Amino acid sequence: MTDLTALAAAALGEVAACGDLTALDEVRVRWLGKKGAFTEQLKALGRLSAAERPAAGERINEAKEKLHAAIAQRRSLLERAAIERELSAGRIDVTLPGRGEESGGLHPVTRARLRIETLFRRAGFEVASGPEIEDDYHNFTALNIPPDHPARAMHDTFYFPDGRLLRTHTSPVQVRALRERGAPLAIIAPGRVYRNDSDMTHSPMFHQLEGLVVGEDVSFANMKAALHGFLQAFFERDLAMRLRPSYFPFTEPSAEVDMSCVFCSGKGCRVCKFTGWLEISGCGMVHPNVLAASGVDPERFSGYAFGAGIDRLAMLRYGVNDLRLFFENDLRFLTQFRSLGT
Ligand SMILES: [Zn+2]
Repeated sequence: MTDLTALAAAALGEVAACGDLTALDEVRVRWLGKKGAFTEQLKALGRLSAAERPAAGERINEAKEKLHAAIAQRRSLLERAAIERELSAGRIDVTLPGRGEESGGLHPVTRARLRIETLFRRAGFEVASGPEIEDDYHNFTALNIPPDHPARAMHDTFYFPDGRLLRTHTSPVQVRALRERGAPLAIIAPGRVYRNDSDMTHSPMFHQLEGLVVGEDVSFANMKAALHGFLQAFFERDLAMRLRPSYFPFTEPSAEVDMSCVFCSGKGCRVCKFTGWLEISGCGMVHPNVLAASGVDPERFSGYAFGAGIDRLAMLRYGVNDLRLFFENDLRFLTQFRSLGT
């Protein structure tokens, strides 16, 4: 019993030295737990005489209570310190300057597409769409390109193992729209198309614009007027347009559309390879086989169709000379278009 005072002093010293709650708990168990020093002291009471026992027991209990109190005090101190630390770590300095937030803008290809849609809507066209994962029938066969047709080889098609494919042009929307809505009909179908081809002027994914007008007495002259009107409105200037005979399986007759160069106004420059002309679209009268495959009577209805690259239209309108810039997502390039109208 003689060392009780020394024991109590040692215990209190350890409590005072505790730097965190875990250490404090360890100290508590060491001194006051089942195998703790004070418990051992109480067990030793049995060896004392009956006369000595009450006084000795009281002293031990006093020392224990003192230690309990010291631990509780230390715990609340440590807890408060922990809260303080947490608060100061998460403190927000309201005097720091803000990071700012930049406003986004539309991608130039999106701008061009919206502009095209607006212009054609004004001319009475509706905007249609179709799936990018197509079947062989809609992408080829229904467009008068049967399985052994040489035009299939020119399409560099991405196929899925089950025979479906990523559409190589927006023309399948012609078939789908005619089947769904019937004739008469005037639609444009802008959208993504895919070909296994990539260089400065080709991207494996690009944007195409399809146009289709079917009705009674729709003529080649109607097509020429619609395309010329669109090109002048899109580029906001008078420009010449010419048609050259061409071949597409799904139109007959077919033509390539050239417009006078928007950079040199037809005088000749590097962009137009000094010809004064830029190739801008393919077009023609819808082949009777395509009308029939779409459930439309080719004896009663006729129609024209055209296709153009939206990316190319955007490049020419905004003076961009490398197609890849549209798909690199470089903000230094894209932010230049932020403040433009469509
Ligand atoms: Zn030119």
